[in-house]
Amino acid sequence: MKKTNLKGLTQKELEEFVLSIEEKKFRGQQLFDWLYNKEAESFNDMSTFSKSLRNKLDELATIDTLELLTFHKSIHDNTTKFLFQLKDGKRIESVLIPPKTAFQNGDVDDEEDEQKRLTLCVSTQVGCPLDCVFCATGAMGFGRNLTAGEIVDQVLQTKKIAGKKITNIVFMGMGEPLMNYDSVMNSIDIISNGINISTRRITLSTAGWVDGIIRMADEGKKIKLAISLHSLNDEVRSKLMPLNKKFNLQQLMKAVEYYYRKIKIRVTFEYILFAGINDRMEDAKSLVKLSKTMPCKINIIPFHNIGSTNPKSFAANLHPVPMREADKFANLLRKNHVTVFIRSSAGEDIAAACGQLAVKNKPK
Ligand code: SAH
Repeated sequence: MKKTNLKGLTQKELEEFVLSIEEKKFRGQQLFDWLYNKEAESFNDMSTFSKSLRNKLDELATIDTLELLTFHKSIHDNTTKFLFQLKDGKRIESVLIPPKTAFQNGDVDDEEDEQKRLTLCVSTQVGCPLDCVFCATGAMGFGRNLTAGEIVDQVLQTKKIAGKKITNIVFMGMGEPLMNYDSVMNSIDIISNGINISTRRITLSTAGWVDGIIRMADEGKKIKLAISLHSLNDEVRSKLMPLNKKFNLQQLMKAVEYYYRKIKIRVTFEYILFAGINDRMEDAKSLVKLSKTMPCKINIIPFHNIGSTNPKSFAANLHPVPMREADKFANLLRKNHVTVFIRSSAGEDIAAACGQLAVKNKPK
């Protein structure tokens, strides 16, 4: 009989598991605590269990962990990028972002002690099927969805290596989280209830997978939502993000407003500035108009050129906007009462900044 990997199971699923092996239900809760709060990596560590129960668990179950291949630390800002190998040989990256580097102008959004903030950016898929033309992960194609255990273990393993408490999680690594809905939501359940990182400190970023946004609203998921917007013009956005042909801006905005009405947490719109493409006066005006439809904030992201190799691709037209110009654009929005931050390029030197995550996958 195949052993069950317990890492990645929610408390409810662990309770079902222990009942299935004829143990009492409360053992499920204890397992949940051992796995995610006490971070046990073997059944032998579980000292509140009798020897015979530990042996039984050993026979029937496993606690799978990611294999850390390498990690690199930025010499500029201490951002650290981790390369993990999964059981089937596929590879993913996670990025640990230290305090004061996430935003150039300090994100004082929730008045927490910025110095204590340690943010982990997690991946949800091997590669990504969405093919946004500016993104390195898109260029590597799609491998598969990650399991909840593989998402959760990115938090546990990086925490162990860093030796510090991770305070914030952003689902902004490789992949489109809402296309892997169940595993992502189970991982959020475990990260918040087991690892004890409050959902107020968890942000999920989506390229605009409308069905997932509506489902989150209907299920009352109280997590911060970020939308990769990048343009308010359907023609431009479709060139940048093919997903816009499936879910256009009108459908996307309807879903985001629905989410806000149900969840009541301010939405973040992410906006990469591309010179001559989405940095004009009329683009700023559209953003001002958008910000009047619902409480939101706008994060301007500097474009990290991934060096598209195909001259026929729209990507060949994409160039970053000089920082001075980006500041002007942001100030224009601020003058019109839009809450706007400029995201820093933390980790750019180690290809750990937004959109730079890509790995070579070696099949086993
Ligand atoms: N698939 C999700 C989450 C991953 S991307 C999403 O699209 O939101 C995380 C953020 O990095 C997104 O806002 C994405 O648009 C941005 N990004 C992708 N490539 C980039 C690049 N080359 N430069 C700057 N930001 C990039």
